Amino acid sequence: MTVLTKIQIHDLTALRHALHRRPEISGEEAETADRIAQELEALGADRIWRQLGGHGVAAEFAGAEEGPTVLLRCELDGLPILEISDLPYRSEVEGKGHLCGHDGHMVSLLGVATGLARRPAKGRVILLFQPAEETGAGAKAVIEDPRWPEIRPDVAFAYHNVPGRPLGEIGLRPGPGNCASRGMQILLEGKSSHAAAPEDGVSPGPAMAALMQALPGLGTGAIGEKDFALSTLTHAWLGEPTFGIAPGQGELRVTLRCMTDDRMEALVADAQALVDQHCADLSVDIAWHDIFLSVTNDAETTEMARKVALSQDRPVHEMPTPMRWSEDFGRIGGDGAQATMLYVGAGENHPQLHNPDYDFPDALIPIMTDMFLGIVDHILGRAQA
Ligand SMILES: [Zn+2]
Ligand SMILES: [Zn+2]
Repeated sequence: MTVLTKIQIHDLTALRHALHRRPEISGEEAETADRIAQELEALGADRIWRQLGGHGVAAEFAGAEEGPTVLLRCELDGLPILEISDLPYRSEVEGKGHLCGHDGHMVSLLGVATGLARRPAKGRVILLFQPAEETGAGAKAVIEDPRWPEIRPDVAFAYHNVPGRPLGEIGLRPGPGNCASRGMQILLEGKSSHAAAPEDGVSPGPAMAALMQALPGLGTGAIGEKDFALSTLTHAWLGEPTFGIAPGQGELRVTLRCMTDDRMEALVADAQALVDQHCADLSVDIAWHDIFLSVTNDAETTEMARKVALSQDRPVHEMPTPMRWSEDFGRIGGDGAQATMLYVGAGENHPQLHNPDYDFPDALIPIMTDMFLGIVDHILGRAQA
């Protein structure tokens, strides 16, 4: 069935468990990156780049003839969440866990590296192990690395496992696939005063109360509609926890989410206008965090993935709506590659991503190794054994 031997699957699974024990969060993936680079070296990669946009690692497997560059991308980072599990390989790092399955995504790409002992017939395959996906900083940093032009692909693929869908089902969606999102931090400054004389100060309280109602009200449409926008209040504080002081400072945090980058621009402008409208007597400082572009899946590369999935007898799910969650893979399509994200079922009753009891389903390792090698064969062909 699979191109991997039983021993290769056993070794890749053991490596996944080893990575799972030692999760590193966004921007701190030094040990993971080292381990990955060693594996790629052992698998005979033609060229390896390290420290790409932080701790990123990329490996090249080149064909004999000229041809396009096919990039396959996975993520290095775990999450600052305590894992709750009885697994023998549960996280050994207090408060951190591989609870998004990036350990499994990495090992799937190492499976591809194993298969590429037989090189593509033409062009080259780049395997990109990207840092800091969870914060939305990693793909941007990799693309801004001065060595990116040596790597820049013509086509790019990545996958994310999706709990709640049947195991091994390949979800596809040409066009918008993941929402754009960004965090809006609003710092408000007035003037504190004695609680006995609040009229001598300027409290951000009334403006905050108004904004806590008005900002979530910017949401429009439903997921799947072009107009879809969601504005979620995530955090608020006002003044000090005392009884003697009328507050002079406050902060709101809001996450904005849209299906397209254009709609996001309009939503950002609307949110800023609301803040201006309600905070005329305050000084306002707005900062933006965790900026994710939307993932827009290319029609042609999505069709290639569909053909390969069907040729491997994988069930294909034509997704009616995009994922609400964001993915910084959108940056790679935004950089000019024809890019497609695959949304691969992790099991219908599987714990959700970022839940403390989530664990990547190992059965996906050979499935996704085969899918990606099938895509490589479809685009580049493969040298004779
Ligand atoms: Zn995640
Ligand atoms: Zn993830």
